[in-house]
Amino acid sequence: MSADPNLDDLLDRLRPRSTREALAEIEAARRAAESREPQRTIIPDPELPPLWPHPDSGIVRFPCALECSWAHEEDVHDIDVEPISVPLYAGAEELNRVLTERAERRSAKVRARVEAAVREHFARAHPGQEPPQRDVW
Ligand SMILES: [Zn+2]
Repeated sequence: MSADPNLDDLLDRLRPRSTREALAEIEAARRAAESREPQRTIIPDPELPPLWPHPDSGIVRFPCALECSWAHEEDVHDIDVEPISVPLYAGAEELNRVLTERAERRSAKVRARVEAAVREHFARAHPGQEPPQRDVW
């Protein structure tokens, strides 16, 4: 127990869990994953980039689902440019909230950009054809 309740909260989260607690968490996560409904997306399966120092490291490719050789590319190094702004007095929950909201904003921007690129590609290269959808879990 320290004088700082935020530190106590953080230390409690970092406390080693018993095997029973860990198994209960895993089981709860498994049940939550099973009950989740798939979402449909036109975003193709991404090709993950080679590791640094390869010149293409950081470039995620989204190839056309019709395999026409076109691909939309996202540079993951350019995606993460928004500064992280957290008040000095922020506790663990505030820090978690700020980082989660930032990640969700970034994810929404990337998703919108890739979807727009796929739609534009289909309008130009495959006119009259809708981009195929796939399930995402
Ligand atoms: Zn294509």
